[in-house]
Amino acid sequence: MKVLITPRGFASYGLDQVKLMESKGLSVHYNNTGKAYTKEEFHRLAADADAIIVGVDIIDRELIDQCPKLKVICKFGVGTDNIDLDYAKEKGIFVGRTTGSNSKAVAEHVLAFMFADTKNLYSTINEVKEHQWNKPTGQEVSGKTLGIIGFGMIGKNIAAFVSGLSMKVYAYDAFEITEEAAKEYHVEKKSFEEIIRESDYISLHVPLLDSTKNMISTEEFKKMKKNTCLINTARGGIVDENALYRALVNKEIRSAYFDVYSLEPPAAEDKLIKLDNFFLTPHTAARTVESEKRTCQMSTGIIVEHLLI
Ligand code: NAD
Repeated sequence: MKVLITPRGFASYGLDQVKLMESKGLSVHYNNTGKAYTKEEFHRLAADADAIIVGVDIIDRELIDQCPKLKVICKFGVGTDNIDLDYAKEKGIFVGRTTGSNSKAVAEHVLAFMFADTKNLYSTINEVKEHQWNKPTGQEVSGKTLGIIGFGMIGKNIAAFVSGLSMKVYAYDAFEITEEAAKEYHVEKKSFEEIIRESDYISLHVPLLDSTKNMISTEEFKKMKKNTCLINTARGGIVDENALYRALVNKEIRSAYFDVYSLEPPAAEDKLIKLDNFFLTPHTAARTVESEKRTCQMSTGIIVEHLLI
């Protein structure tokens, strides 16, 4: 049986896992090209696959219909918005994801964003390279309010990481947050509205769904504090980027730090990325050596369990 692996991380951090699958009789094709597959390459390689470990490549109805042997799909990570889950279910294809494999890495990225913001790290470091010795006054995170929207694996890791920072931490989730969880992670349960109105930092950790698309838009920006820094490491599309542009230009909020974007990479003429209070990393929040190794191991486990057992 053939396993197709599209994420490039396997070539660097998962060769032991490739060997493990091969030792169990699987024929493994992994991406060692150093580049993401084009749609055509992906479709060609997937056509005779029994299982696919997939990063951001689109697994839609068209692809599924071209793969008659496909039995297992494993997302190399957690966000399954690139997979047509309903159609996979209709076709009897199991879809797994590596829950928690990269949550520490993403949570650390959020902390890096928070400190970069309070200490003006990006602007000051770049200015010194230009021989400018400006000294803007920063802020302390201590005493500030952090609002976490989506209290799953990543949201909980952030709450655990900031517990020593003397911050007020609010959490909201579509599912009830238990008293035990609130106590364990030192968070106060709040409504979406309260988080929007009262937070200095708002960090988004919900999946991209019809119900979360543009969940932060003009109305929400109008309610935010002027000191708000909005952090999105979840998915492009959860924040209305046109509304964000207006909010940043009009100083309705202070700044925004994103790792994800509606179009990755952004278009050359994109206006938002040119603003000096908007910062974007190239979807690297989950990319650490440790998380890549964990994700290779967990996705291999899912393939072996669901294809062979
Ligand atoms: P998770 O499934 O553990 O948690 C998601 C939480 O969001 C759940 O508790 C769920 O109940 C909640 N939720 C869903 N809809 C909601 C809504 N409308 N309002 C409030 N809460 C809602 O997932 P996770 O591991 O914490 O990851 C969260 C998201 O982050 C993923 O879906 C993925 O899109 C994104 N992500 C991005 C990167 C990256 O590289 N930047 C890496 C990992 C995950």
